[in-house]
Amino acid sequence: MINIAANLTKINEEIEIASNKANRSSATVSLLAVSKTKPSQLVQQGYDAGQRQFGENYVQEAVDKIHELAHLTDICWHFIGPIQSNKTRLIAENVSWVHSVDRIKIAKRLNEQRDNNITPLNVCLQVNISGEQSKSGALINEVAELADYINNCENLTLRGLMAIPENSKDEAVTRKRFKQMQTLFNQLQHQYPSVDTLSMGMSGDLAIAIECGSTMIRVGTAIFGSRS
Ligand SMILES: *Cc1c(COP(=O)(O)O)cnc(C)c1O
Repeated sequence: MINIAANLTKINEEIEIASNKANRSSATVSLLAVSKTKPSQLVQQGYDAGQRQFGENYVQEAVDKIHELAHLTDICWHFIGPIQSNKTRLIAENVSWVHSVDRIKIAKRLNEQRDNNITPLNVCLQVNISGEQSKSGALINEVAELADYINNCENLTLRGLMAIPENSKDEAVTRKRFKQMQTLFNQLQHQYPSVDTLSMGMSGDLAIAIECGSTMIRVGTAIFGSRS
């Protein structure tokens, strides 16, 4: 049987070690547990082990789990998957964070559909940092306009950037991409005081991500086991 508490401890230790190495406090790096395809019972186990932030990729699956776990009042749900425009309402109504906003049309709909009586939706722009044709994400030269648009949305709070670099075995390539993200992030932070989140790094590259200023590591398999 999978031991989620032990897996969380191990990842948190890795974050601690990488933070120390980068002369950062591990309190500046949070862990997002990516629970896509995993049942709500496993999310509950993660919660019982102290984890509070969970990431989901598929809208209907996310909504189902959010409802099943509605008794966990301090759990925090992040949507990190590609967004189709016909799914924005469910996202706007159910999660606290979205990491995958990559075009104005989506931001506009999320802003219109977020209830103005609740906390604004926290938004990270997804950047297609490696410029891959097949990947979602805004291109680097689209970030400024999109950030400005989101910053002017009443029901959205611009929190930062998210990226998934190209899959490379070469650490130098990964580091180069993360550094590019760090530069973009620093520029954005200078412009917008609400920006504090750089969502990058997964289990295989979390140390490089932390070295390059990541504030949120997203880990699925190493916590919940492989997906079939
Ligand atoms: C699935 C996913 C993760 C976690 O991936 P694992 O390989 O399971 O750790 C992180 N970020 C995003 C955007 C994902 O879709």
